[in-house]
Amino acid sequence: MPIQRQTWQRLTPRNDLPGLPCPHCANGKIKLVKNGLVSLEPKHVSDWREKNPDEWDFVFATERWSASMRCDEATCGEVIHMIGDIEVVEADVDLPGGTSTGAYEEVLRIQAVFPAPPLFRVSDSVPKRVKEQLELAFRMYWTDVSACVSRLRTAVERLLDDQGVPKERLLTKGKKAGKMHRMSLHERIDSFASGSAHKDQLQGLRNIGNLGTHGIEDVEDADLFDAVDVLEFVLTGIYDSKTINAKAGKLKSKKPKS
Ligand SMILES: [Zn+2]
Repeated sequence: MPIQRQTWQRLTPRNDLPGLPCPHCANGKIKLVKNGLVSLEPKHVSDWREKNPDEWDFVFATERWSASMRCDEATCGEVIHMIGDIEVVEADVDLPGGTSTGAYEEVLRIQAVFPAPPLFRVSDSVPKRVKEQLELAFRMYWTDVSACVSRLRTAVERLLDDQGVPKERLLTKGKKAGKMHRMSLHERIDSFASGSAHKDQLQGLRNIGNLGTHGIEDVEDADLFDAVDVLEFVLTGIYDSKTINAKAGKLKSKKPKS
């Protein structure tokens, strides 16, 4: 299922923390526990404000907060903690009479969530070594988008390892004939998926992962969300098609009850 992009905001109003999916169970969403949000102002900030009242501007506001959250699925009840700081943003405020004005609002910036909610539900059929990389990517989402896509690229490498795609091949031509050559990820994907629909999907993931790994330019959220959707689709195609085909076969062989 494509990712619900509007749920994955790093800036959020104080009274409306996002209902992210539970990291433990399949159906739950995480909700703030009663009085679970605690936000404190550092002393060096309040001291400075008191000493320099004429120079203080509300955009200097600084707080560190933590939020205790729990999965709303009664039988699960997983505990999740969020932490972050605050940011002053410009917002439109509606005025009586149907007009609006620009105003400043303090919002929470989420810096980390643990355990990390999944950007997509990872099927039980996905091998552990692939899953480990995905879990690291889900943690990185809040901190470093480039590191996040880089982990998704490593998940692709682990997928190829799991599928028995070699890392080296014997050179048969040129001066180095007879020697082993370390295959690039590009070559490994070509050798695994030649002629398959997954080839372009995997090469796309490799490319965006490279941008993240080499830090040539910052990777944008839109690219990350696209990568997440593509990877989820590829993993389903590779690891769940047997289950899906078995179900389809069962449906096909059903006969009307006489
Ligand atoms: Zn749960």
